[in-house]
Amino acid sequence: MSDNVHAPTLDATRVGTAAIWSGTNDRFTIETPRLPDLRDGEVLVRTEMATICGSDLHTINGDRSTPLPTVLGHEAIGHVVATGGQVQAADGHPVTVGDRITWTIGTSCGQCRRCRRGIPQKCQTVRKYGHEAIDDHWTFNGGFAGFVHLSTGTGMVHLPEALPAAVATPANCATATVTCAARRTGLTSDDAVVVLGCGMLGLTAIAYARDAGCTAVIASDVDAARRELARRFGATETVGPEGLATATQASGADVVFELSGSSRAVQSALEVVDLGGRIALVGSVSPAPEVSFEPSRFVKNLTTVVGSHNYRVDDLVEAVDFLSRTPAQPALAELVSAPYDLAEIEQAVAAANTGTAPRVAVTMN
Ligand SMILES: [Zn+2]
Ligand SMILES: [Zn+2]
Repeated sequence: MSDNVHAPTLDATRVGTAAIWSGTNDRFTIETPRLPDLRDGEVLVRTEMATICGSDLHTINGDRSTPLPTVLGHEAIGHVVATGGQVQAADGHPVTVGDRITWTIGTSCGQCRRCRRGIPQKCQTVRKYGHEAIDDHWTFNGGFAGFVHLSTGTGMVHLPEALPAAVATPANCATATVTCAARRTGLTSDDAVVVLGCGMLGLTAIAYARDAGCTAVIASDVDAARRELARRFGATETVGPEGLATATQASGADVVFELSGSSRAVQSALEVVDLGGRIALVGSVSPAPEVSFEPSRFVKNLTTVVGSHNYRVDDLVEAVDFLSRTPAQPALAELVSAPYDLAEIEQAVAAANTGTAPRVAVTMN
């Protein structure tokens, strides 16, 4: 064995469990591949919990193609069981065996034009967890497995042991996507905030806006139960789409988070935003009907519209800090189902497809 290959000091079997996804026909098989010999800078994590994100469901339901076979899942947390030499977390502290961590959903090289321009999530050589074909070295490349093999270029962030797993697990997709969108709009405590869509991201955005000190947070959703839930996360007013114009005229709309992905909601974001306002378009991750707008109003109103997809590692640091301090922790935990065992991945997916819980959890026993 060469100096830069590190065998994890694990049980003698040196294998782990993984739910291998082979496409919409062959679906999942529970397999026990050999654990990797780590290269310099790599980390092996024993998965504590993974949650099924909407984008996993897009793949499983055949709405999005992915290289096969693969291990799906990217919202996950775990404890480090081995490192390839010395590895640093985003804050510069070492990542060592036993540490509880979360990590960026993709790698970034730090060198390419996009990385240098501050959009490492669009790195020209990005490899995303839960979205790549497995190979001989990188088999444990998604969250629906007993271990996750973190590649070099992955941003790692320590998690407090006291943070409940159900609160911490969505940090590296849902929560960090929200903190990134908030950063990109320059959210401040003075802003009247509008949140369109009260699913996992929307409810997180409401709590995050309150955490930022915003005193007016209007939440809008077509679903009455979700509007009720929005109140628990700190929304100061909740409305259906038909009530949005009236509500925003009264309270203002300085920052609008569009998290639903509905073209009608995007249209209303463009219509209700105030002079000097900023709109973050986040929910529209697959093609949708076109939206039209009258440009002079944007010019004269100094409107900013930003698209925001995924996040940078500093947004993940902020996400973990936010989750650690927010009084919405119990409400966030309730968005996550009781965990299914990895062997029950099909039942977990079926539960996620019902949409009853914004997130369905999977653990490895
Ligand atoms: Zn996700
Ligand atoms: Zn790069």
